[in-house]
Amino acid sequence: MQFNYIANACTPSSSGRTIAMLDPSDGQPYDEIQRSNAADLDLAVRAARQGLEAVWHKFSAAERGRLLMRLSLKITEHADELSAIEQRDCGKPTKQARADAAALARYFEFYAGACDKLHGETIPYLDGYSVLTWREPHGVTGHIIPWNYPMQIFGRSVGGALAAGNVCVVKPAEDACLSLLRVAQLAAEVGFPAGVINIVTGYGHEVGDALARHPGIDHISFTGSPAIGTLIQQVAAQRHCPVTLELGGKSPQIVFADADLEAAVPAIISGIVQNSGQTCSAGSRLLVDLAIYEPLLERLGQAFENLRVGPAAMDLDLGPLIRQQQQQRVWDFLSDAQVANITMVAQGKVVEEAPQTGFYQAPTLLRDVPVTHRLAQEEVFGPVLVAMSFRDEDHAVEMANATPFGLVAGVWTADGARQFRMARRIRSGQVFINNYGAGGGVELPFGGIKSSGYGREKGVEALHGFTTLKTVAIKHG
Ligand code: ADP
Repeated sequence: MQFNYIANACTPSSSGRTIAMLDPSDGQPYDEIQRSNAADLDLAVRAARQGLEAVWHKFSAAERGRLLMRLSLKITEHADELSAIEQRDCGKPTKQARADAAALARYFEFYAGACDKLHGETIPYLDGYSVLTWREPHGVTGHIIPWNYPMQIFGRSVGGALAAGNVCVVKPAEDACLSLLRVAQLAAEVGFPAGVINIVTGYGHEVGDALARHPGIDHISFTGSPAIGTLIQQVAAQRHCPVTLELGGKSPQIVFADADLEAAVPAIISGIVQNSGQTCSAGSRLLVDLAIYEPLLERLGQAFENLRVGPAAMDLDLGPLIRQQQQQRVWDFLSDAQVANITMVAQGKVVEEAPQTGFYQAPTLLRDVPVTHRLAQEEVFGPVLVAMSFRDEDHAVEMANATPFGLVAGVWTADGARQFRMARRIRSGQVFINNYGAGGGVELPFGGIKSSGYGREKGVEALHGFTTLKTVAIKHG
């Protein structure tokens, strides 16, 4: 049984109710979390406010940095334990779970170093004045975290918020949150004062909604679906609470005829099979120059057929999806493809050892998907890659920009001038040229435009979102 973590103490929900945690690899329950309610959330917000006012605001930036660094080292010491927890919770292959624990440590390391490098400016003004700006923390920040990368998203969101001097109330996803409860304990062990990191588990429509509504939350970071992002904005707007939204994408991988396919092919595959396609920045649309469309699809088709899906602990190319509803969602997209006579190029295989009760889905490559079809417009959040061909650069740009999303894009071409033109013309928060995802990129600002959300997480840029700017004008004559 798992408990909320409030004011450095394991705390049961006042509801007395719990939610069963299912192992996605076999669909069986193996633990329980608290099904928290608005009263539990209120307790966490009060603890956070108390922690902020009594202790945390007295920490200098350098002291905060040292504490974040201690947590980073502690996470590294416990990396095996944390990755094992995340592996079971999310159904991640071992390599992925380990990479996630390493990324969590890296976020805290990065933000540890950033704490005392965040500063304002002086502004030249009228004679007799001095004007300066201060970057001040919002206060109590709320973090609503999805189930696909609990550790990574906690690291980027909470790491940045703490570095900027905030205290945090975290609402992880009901499907996967056990690693974060453990990280909060490790934070207490390295000396984080009570109330600085609080975790309250439960359903989104209950405790998540309570977080978005709570007047004691001064800023909300939300990562999740566009539909819930809209709800959060609406609720937060009632009290003019600032929000940062990361809502996913339908990111294109754009391959020109002069591309280095040796480099592009593995990146295209890992861009869609990583975490079984349950990645906001998955490269889920493949736009290919007509001149190389057939040979590239043939090559990718062979590679897809060799992909293997199985229980997380088998550490294959893909693990299971998070839950049955997610599996059903992918099936619905694939049956829509059949109805629309969309051609399947290839599919990987679910291994025989995979229990029937697990949530498995073979990676699937589809071709000639019409630009307006929902498979080319909506986020599947599963291992489904849709391929389309383009005639020339203008056509590629038009297709790349023709979705409601704008999170990430990959461009594969040897032509230097075209690399710059494409980077300028594509409407998204990140553009990768001759690579995709840049190995995680803790340092690289991340976020979207259009339905992918707004605000930036990761990198130093995130610290601007976790602070509010105060202008001080002094008239001294
Ligand atoms: P998914 O459909 O992939 O689970 P969601 O957007 O529903 O994505 O979930 C992302 C996070 O948002 C989770 O922590 C979830 O519990 C939370 N959430 C869901 N509904 C709400 C809501 N109405 N208000 C606040 N948070 C919510």
